[in-house]
Order: sequence, then structure tokens, then C-alpha cells
Amino acid sequence: MTDGPNFKQELTGVFGQPVAENPSQVMMEAAYQAAGLAWRYLTIEVAPADLASAVQGARAMGFRGFNCTIPHKLAVIEHLDGLGESASIMGAVNCVVRRGDELIGENTDGRGFTESLRPIRDPAGARVVILGAGGAARAIATELALSGASRLTIVNRTASRGEDLARLIDEKTDASATFVPWTGDLVVAEDVDVLVNATSIGLSPDGDARVAVAEDSLRSELVVADVIPNPPRTRLLRSAAERGCPTIDGLGMLVGQGVLGFRYWTGQDPDPSAMRAALEAVFGG
Ligand code: NDP
Repeated sequence: MTDGPNFKQELTGVFGQPVAENPSQVMMEAAYQAAGLAWRYLTIEVAPADLASAVQGARAMGFRGFNCTIPHKLAVIEHLDGLGESASIMGAVNCVVRRGDELIGENTDGRGFTESLRPIRDPAGARVVILGAGGAARAIATELALSGASRLTIVNRTASRGEDLARLIDEKTDASATFVPWTGDLVVAEDVDVLVNATSIGLSPDGDARVAVAEDSLRSELVVADVIPNPPRTRLLRSAAERGCPTIDGLGMLVGQGVLGFRYWTGQDPDPSAMRAALEAVFGG
């Protein structure tokens, strides 16, 4: 992935420094193709100092929107005209949408996750343990709270980050969240419905890294999800599947946020299976 907005527009052009195709580009262009749209989704690296000009350029060239990645998720906000609800709570934008003459910042990461969870477990009323307190955990916790999850437990190695996230959920949503320090192997309590690994543990090239969870506390009713898209079958998900748990891999969240971006930009529903197939061709299934 590159550290720059992934611009998408209707016409092909030359903007800044196009970089090698990334998985999001492959996924979104597969979705356009499946929908018969001659649209492009381009990956463009933008230095932090050039962000204002890049957003101005997107306005000038009539882009329907763009995604942005770290480090632009926070900095882009001051260049936009407004924020959607979850982006406003999180203070982070990963998806910008042109509405009339305005560029509005949305956050589709968390909703991408809740949409991938929904076919297996309704987030409403769910008791969820989230491992991690970084950007992905923040997005997932916020969206679960907005979807009516009944209890969120944030487990993180660095206490200050975990406490900040639990406080954010308590103060800005109707849900309640508790922070639990992560020491040794986490034992998942028997009344937990969903366990989410939202840390970067297991990301390639450390694909076999172990998430410190007591494997014998993974009951077969527990839904186990992992945000890691590469490799999709993480060690945690393999352990969970061996114990009979329903599992959701990181491609589910990636496709979920892509579906939302596609809808925002085109006003149409994409074919998620074409998007997932394109990602599986990159990462393996
Ligand atoms: P951040 O750097 O913001 O957060 C990383 C989190 O992982 C922190 O909570 C950190 O804990 C924790 N962590 C990292 N290493 C360890 C370790 N060895 N032991 C315990 N905790 C650890 O990253 P993001 O939240 O932005 O991204 C996390 C992952 O989510 C990435 O791998 C990314 O690829 C994936 N992701 C997937 C998406 C998808 O669509 N599938 C979308 C967005 C992200 P601490 O605070 O203690 O440092």
C-alpha cells in the first residue's frame, strides 16, 4: 500500500506520481468492470506537504471521490467541507465523496467490518472483544457502537491507547466500553459473542505470528474475525476454525469498505464476489 490518496475518477489522466497497482485498485477496478462502468481507480502517492494541492486538484478535475491512507486520514479533514457521522466521531477519514460542490469525509473502514460481520452475527446486542487500539480498532469499535453492540472490551498492549479508545466510545456513542490491559494470553470470557483481532499481528511477512489468546477459550459459538488481509488465513483464524468457530477474514472488511465507497461514488451496488475474487487473486483465498 502507498501513503497517498487513491484517487478515482471517470476519465483516465496523469496526476502526480502514479505508483504500482495496489490491492484496493485491483479490487475497485474489478468492481467497475463487473458493473460495466468505464471508471478508473488510480493509486497516487502524495507527500504530506502536497495534500492541500492534491485535494484542490481532485476538486478541479471533478473526481467523484478518493480514498486516503495513513498519514492522510487525519490531515485531510481540514481540506474538506464536512464529515459523516462515524468520521466525525473517529476524527479520521478514509473515503471522500463529492456531493454537489462539496467534498465530504466518510469513514468506511468500520462499516466495512460490520457489514462483513452481519451475515454471521447481528452487531446489535453483541458482546465484543477487540484486540488493539490503533486506527483499525478505532474504526471497528465506533461502528460496532453505532450498530448497537451491547458491550465493547478493548484489549491493548499500550494502556494509554486502549484507555483513550474506551473513553472515546463512552463519551461519543451510546455504547459502553471497558479497557483491559493485555498481559499474557487473553482468556476470552464465556459470554463474549465476537472476538476481533484489530492489531497488525500476523501481517505478511510475519504471517505466522501468534496473537496472544488462550486457544482453549475459543468456544465453537464464538465468532472470530481478523483484520489482516495478507495472508487472509491467519494463524488466529486457523486455530479458531479448528475449534469450530465461525471466522471472518480481513478480505471481508476490505471488500466491505470497497462496497461502501463504490455506492457513495457511483450510486450503484457493486458485485462483492467480483471484488473478493480480485483480492484473492492477489493475496490467495
Ligand atoms: P496501528 O499502527 O494504528 O495499530 C496497531 C495496533 O496493533 C496497536 O493497537 C498495537 O498495540 C497493536 N500491536 C502491534 N504489534 C503488536 C504486538 N506485537 N503485540 C500486541 N499488540 C500489537 O495500525 P492500524 O490499526 O491502522 O492497522 C492494524 C492492522 O489492520 C494492519 O495490519 C492493517 O493491515 C489492518 N487493516 C485492515 C483493513 C482491512 O480492510 N482489512 C483496514 C485497515 C487496517 P500498541 O498500541 O500497544 O502499539
